[in-house]
This record gives sequence, structure tokens and C-alpha cells, in this order.
Amino acid sequence: MTTTHDVLSIGHLIGHTLTDVDNYDEVRDPGRLDDIVARVAVGTPADVNQAVELAHRAFTSWRNVPPAERAQLLLRAADVLADCAEDLAPLLVREHGGVLWEAQTDFALGTGVLQHTASLVDGFFTPVQYDDEQSFISIERVPRGVVAAVVPWNMPVVLTMMKLAPALATGNTIVLKPSPFAPAALTLALQRIAQQLPEGVVNVVHGNADVGQALTSHPLVRKVGFTGGTATARHVMASAAGTIKNLTLELGGNDPAVVLDDVDIDAALDRMLKGVFTRSGQICFAVKRIYVPRSLYGTFADAFCERVDQYAVGHGLDENASFGPLNNKAQFDSVTNLIEGTKNSSAKIVQLGKKLDSAGDGYYVLPHVVRDVEHSAPISSCEQFGPVIPLIAYDDEAQVIEWANDSEYGLGSSVWTTDTDRGLAIARQIEAGSTFINSHAFESLDLRMPFGGVKQSGIGREFGEAGMSEYVEDHAIRVVK
Ligand code: NAD
Repeated sequence: MTTTHDVLSIGHLIGHTLTDVDNYDEVRDPGRLDDIVARVAVGTPADVNQAVELAHRAFTSWRNVPPAERAQLLLRAADVLADCAEDLAPLLVREHGGVLWEAQTDFALGTGVLQHTASLVDGFFTPVQYDDEQSFISIERVPRGVVAAVVPWNMPVVLTMMKLAPALATGNTIVLKPSPFAPAALTLALQRIAQQLPEGVVNVVHGNADVGQALTSHPLVRKVGFTGGTATARHVMASAAGTIKNLTLELGGNDPAVVLDDVDIDAALDRMLKGVFTRSGQICFAVKRIYVPRSLYGTFADAFCERVDQYAVGHGLDENASFGPLNNKAQFDSVTNLIEGTKNSSAKIVQLGKKLDSAGDGYYVLPHVVRDVEHSAPISSCEQFGPVIPLIAYDDEAQVIEWANDSEYGLGSSVWTTDTDRGLAIARQIEAGSTFINSHAFESLDLRMPFGGVKQSGIGREFGEAGMSEYVEDHAIRVVK
């Protein structure tokens, strides 16, 4: 039976209001498939055009609002977003599948990004100037124009704020396309934020790949901020190429965790497991492969499995659930196929943990640990994006560094050791945007650290001044005397 109570209708956000449209798609709870959580507008290129043209008109005045005033408005937006968590985090759980503290963390991280970005505005626009007998030169930071932001479903709030905050702080306006798999809570939060700002500064258009393509190829869009899969990013780059748009791309990862032989296993597991299983492994910089010295392998793997066996999988609103279902059918099929494929290999895959009664008809997958697996096995080299983790034995440091770097990806990574200097020496040899020593989860992030990837994990950086720099151009002006 389909549950149809409390079904929200979410239109496009064009200016301050949600528009009514003819065509809506259902968003179902991935942990209770008979529950329709919301009906979300299916956009068209005409909707994209309307939003981009409004954002373009708003840009002409928003760019002239003094930076300090824009920073104040970002702080107001941060307060609004923090308040949203109370009613919208449970909605995010129902459309996303993750547990409540994860949804609350999404709002809290997003709030922090707005606040931190506001704190960086002072001084950011101070021009670099030279004045001598021949010239007066002024190098000034100017906004780019309309920003197209395209985000995935896994952490929709913070991933949006990582684009919205630097874009708005630097005087750009924005049109965002959420993922059809988690659009509702984000859009309601953005409407509340948009209402604090001049009309047209923040806009949202819903839809699928065709809408994403219309947005990322629109001639009035000057910058694309994209987070999502590497394969999708190739389409986005092609769309943006037509009018040579600037791009920031935050993409997939296959993050290695390198355990050294002096590790404190218990202390490491306390932290490492969060980095593997939070959001059921559906985090771009989740730990996706763990390298363990052969001398410690059996002890480490036994302790790892013992801990994982304590996890309980259930509906995200069940407070006893360690983690929830996967977000959508494609993700569920991909992870379960990976598990089946690994069962047919020489590796030993063990299913652990238990399902709670709240785990009904939904995309639930129990945690799986893959032991005695080769570095070259498919489970070690892909971005599994689910609660399945390979433990790989290595023989020496040279080998583990080579294996850690043997990937098309280079997003996050970690080193686990009781010797910080040794950890730093290994960290410096890893090809990644970030390397954490003795952590690898949300708690590892610090807004002062630029976030992004190397190789096919992306282009550019988010967070802090590096993130803001992605949204401005240098305008060089010279008076020849
Ligand atoms: P996805 O690439 O399928 O979709 C991302 C967004 O792009 C969605 O809004 C989607 O509708 C849109 N899209 C799809 N086709 C498009 C096209 N042709 N043109 C424009 N937009 C298009 O990714 P997903 O399944 O939503 O999210 C999971 C992926 O995101 C994983 O690979 C994960 O690693 C990655 N991710 C990366 C980061 C990071 O910061 N590096 C963070 C979170 C997620």
C-alpha cells in the first residue's frame, strides 16, 4: 500500500517563491518504499532559462552590494539554515535514507561553511596595487556572474553551501539543480535563505540530466560548481565547453587508509569505522580500501569484524539504527552486484551486523567486510559507495605507497600510526587532495583546509579562501603614465 499522507509539492524556486508546474516526480523514502515523501517538479530547459535570466538580472545589483553587507547576509543565512535543522533534518532522513544525526550534521556543516566564508570577506577584495613613475596598476577581484551549481544526493545541504557561500560572498548569483534523489529539504531550506536576500540571488531548478545539461551549457552562466560522479563530470565539462565556462569539479574517490605497523588498533578502529560506514559508506571521501601490514593482518581484521558485527541497520528515524538504507535503486543494485561478484572471487566476504525491525521494504544492505583480498581486485579499485570494505595485506612501505597511488582517483586518504613524523612522511607521498593522520571522517574536515581532489577526483578546491578564489576573476587595470 502506498502512503500518501503529508506529501509535499516542491516546485522550482524562481526568486522568492516556489512555482507551480504541470509535471512532478515522486520522491519515495528509500527505507520504506511505500512512503511518498514529496512530489518534486520535473524541469525543462525553459525553466532553466527563466531562472538563469532572473539570476542574471539580480547579478547587476548584487555585485555592487558592499562585501561587508553581503557577509552580514551570509551570517543571517547561516542562522536560518541552523534553524532549518529542527524540521527539515527529519524530512531529509525520509527522502535520503541516512540516520538523523547524519542529516543534522549536513545542516550543521552547511551552517559552518556559511559562517566561515562570511568571516573571510574582510580583506578578500583589497586590490593589489603598484604605483610608480610609469604606471598605476590595480588588480581587482570581481565576480564572474551567474553560477550554475549541480549537487548530488549524499550530503545535499553542505555540498550546496560549499558553492552558494563563496559564490554569494564574492558577488555572484546562483541557480542550483539538486539531485532528484534528495531535493525536498534542501529546496525548502534554500527558499528560507533566498527570502533573506534580494530576489533572484538564489534560485533552484529541479530535474534530471537534461535540466543539468541545459543549466551547465546556458550562455549566461559563467561558472559551474559541480559535485557528483566522475562519469557525469565528463558530460558537464562537455556542456560547459561550448561557452568556455570556468569549472570547479568535486568528484568520486577511492580513498585508501594506510595502517602502519605501530598502530594502536583499538584507538584507530574507534575513528576509522566512522569513516567507512557513516551514511552507509555513501560519502565521497569515505574510507574505501584499507591496507594493513601483513604482520598485523589477522589481528586487525578480527578486531575490525568484531566491531562491525555490532552495527544495526534500520530506518533512519529509528534511534537504534547505526546506519540506514542506500539512497536509491541504482545504488542498491550496484552495491549488491559488487557483493555478489566478490562472493564469486577468491576473497572472503563476510556479512555482519543485524537488521532492525524498522528495516522494512527498502534498500537496506548489511555491512560486509572483504578479507584476504588482492589490491587489484575490483572491490579494491572501484568507488563502491556502500557498506562494503576490503582489507588488503601489504608487505612494506614502498608497496603500500605504490598501491595507495594506484588509482584514477585522488580525493581523501589517511595514515594510521602512533608516530606522527612517520605518518607525515608517508602522507607526503600520497597523491590526494587531503591526507588525514589518525582520522578519516567528518571530524577530519577543517574549513581552513582546502577540500578537493587530484587526478579524476576533480578540479579546483572548496572551503576557505581557496574556495572563494574559484568564484572571482582578477581584473587587471593599468594607468600608463
Ligand atoms: P551523479 O553524478 O549521478 O549526479 C550528480 C548531479 O548531477 C545530480 O544532480 C544529477 O541529476 C546531475 N546530472 C546528471 N547528469 C547530468 C548531466 N549530463 N549534466 C548536468 N548534470 C547532470 O552523482 P550522484 O549519484 O548524485 O552522487 C554520487 C557521486 O557523487 C559519487 O561518485 C560521489 O563520490 C560523488 N560525490 C563527490 C563529492 C566530492 O566532494 N568530491 C561529494 C559527494 C559526492
